[in-house]
Amino acid sequence: MACKNCFEKPVFKLISGESLCRSCFLRYFERKVRKTVRIFKLLGKEERIVVGVSGGKDSLTVLNILHNIAERQRKWEVIALAIDEGIKGYRNSCLMDARDFCKTRGITLHVYSFKDEFGYSLDEMVKKLKMKPCSICGVLRRHLLNTKARELGATKLATGHNMDDEAQSIIMNQFRRNIETSARLGPITGVIKEKKFIRRVKPLYLMTEKEVMAYAFLKGISGRFVECPYAYDSYRGEVRDMLNEFEARHPGTKNSIVQSFLEILPLLKKHYKTQAKLKFCRVCGEPCSGEICKACEILEKLGVTGRKNRKNKRKGSKGKIRKNL
Ligand code: SF4
Ligand code: ZN
Ligand code: ZN
Repeated sequence: MACKNCFEKPVFKLISGESLCRSCFLRYFERKVRKTVRIFKLLGKEERIVVGVSGGKDSLTVLNILHNIAERQRKWEVIALAIDEGIKGYRNSCLMDARDFCKTRGITLHVYSFKDEFGYSLDEMVKKLKMKPCSICGVLRRHLLNTKARELGATKLATGHNMDDEAQSIIMNQFRRNIETSARLGPITGVIKEKKFIRRVKPLYLMTEKEVMAYAFLKGISGRFVECPYAYDSYRGEVRDMLNEFEARHPGTKNSIVQSFLEILPLLKKHYKTQAKLKFCRVCGEPCSGEICKACEILEKLGVTGRKNRKNKRKGSKGKIRKNL
């Protein structure tokens, strides 16, 4: 079967069953990302966008596309932010890719680590706490991404979440009866507007993981396809495998999950906006729903409480900021 537009040799088959050649696929992908940004009003005319990068194909793809748009229209400023959780044999290699990528394109990259910020790497925390690695990692990474993006003057925090990630999150929340958490999903996050929360946007929201992989490959974006050593132990991993199996038998399943979720999302946001009472963590001062935020709960278990103590734990670290390393 030839490309549906120009009859050249196809390289990618869409969910619809139609095939596209290399140049038509790249055009299709970039147009769809720009359309996602436009229809969901993810970004305004003037923005300082901090892109959260892991070194994987998704985050480097979103960084690449936003950086290219910013180069043309010059009203966006795009910088990158990476969190080094301290996962031996995994994160270092991913961060090397992020550094190379940013260096060749002249993008400023800021790297912050759990070890410098909290006194312990994730590997050390896992040994000390009886908690699932992903539960610690997710909470502390979100906390750092928000606080550091804010310190960097971000108007938006862009992430590389794609349609597969979103479908997994929706199903995970359904299975665990976490509907309030689902109200915070969607292409632009946040139920309540609060200046301490940097709104997160997901320009790849409507792109499947396969599409992102193909785009990254065709563009020579060398994000690694290595998996975190803790991923085997994650609930998300189980849901991902289940959805992949289902998608193989019933193509379009993930798209249907996300599209039907988008239909009910305004109702969820409205419902939880009226219910939500925003408080501020009495330890760190960040916005949260309880007395103490989830990050401080974990840090308390580690014996690292309060801003002052956390800084003492850093033992002389000056909040390492590395640019274009
Ligand atoms: Fe963190 Fe879990 Fe993802 Fe590994 S798989 S990076 S531990 S959230
Ligand atoms: Zn074509
Ligand atoms: Zn806190």
